[in-house]
Amino acid sequence: MIYIFCAPSGSGKSTMVNHLLTCHPNLFELSISCTTRPPRGQEVHGREYYFISMDEFRQRVENNEFVEYEQVYEGLYYGTLKSEIERIERAGRQVLFDIDVKGGINLKRILGDRATSIFICPPSIDELRRRLVGRGDTSPEMIEKRLAKASIEMEDMKYFDRVVINDNLEHAFQQLDAIIEEGEN
Ligand code: ADP
Ligand code: 5GP
Repeated sequence: MIYIFCAPSGSGKSTMVNHLLTCHPNLFELSISCTTRPPRGQEVHGREYYFISMDEFRQRVENNEFVEYEQVYEGLYYGTLKSEIERIERAGRQVLFDIDVKGGINLKRILGDRATSIFICPPSIDELRRRLVGRGDTSPEMIEKRLAKASIEMEDMKYFDRVVINDNLEHAFQQLDAIIEEGEN
């Protein structure tokens, strides 16, 4: 099974994905996307993302290397490489995706029954702002852009197979574990 995690930025996607990777290191692996945005904080090329130039991104689009790609924010492109799914499945692991809402809906459409799409829902926009500010790695201008986008993304929750409300963290982990258990059966 492939799991597609989507949510407005700051809702807790990385926290959910890291929970699965920590609890089941041999079962899951995260697909690493390409992006044209520069690394943030401690991010490393080939770990969080493949950080590439706009020229290289265009070249890879021309070569048909992406399952899906998108301009997620103004001037910033993100894309899922076909080779990532192959790499992870060849290693005998299940693929996890952490991508934006539009990309996730597209990917689910492409992968069909092979994938479960999961929407991580923040308790409120105010709490989302608090978490983005608290994370301390995004400029105030980008935070406002992400919050504006979040309100629109929340309307697409209905297109997902599952919704996990990330209010209390432990409770969110329990909801997620139940979804995974179901997928194993
Ligand atoms: P995303 O990957 O969706 O952008 P993150 O997983 O980075 O979001 O979470 C954003 C911030 O909110 C992080 O600092 C994270 O530690 C914090 N966070 C995540 N889940 C919760 C929660 N249930 N309660 C409080 N803070 C949380
Ligand atoms: P960030 O810059 O905070 O790492 O990510 C910004 C947004 O881009 C997040 O919503 C993230 O999930 C999304 N994203 C990351 N990789 C991809 C991808 O390959 N495709 C799409 N469509 N979105 C992605």
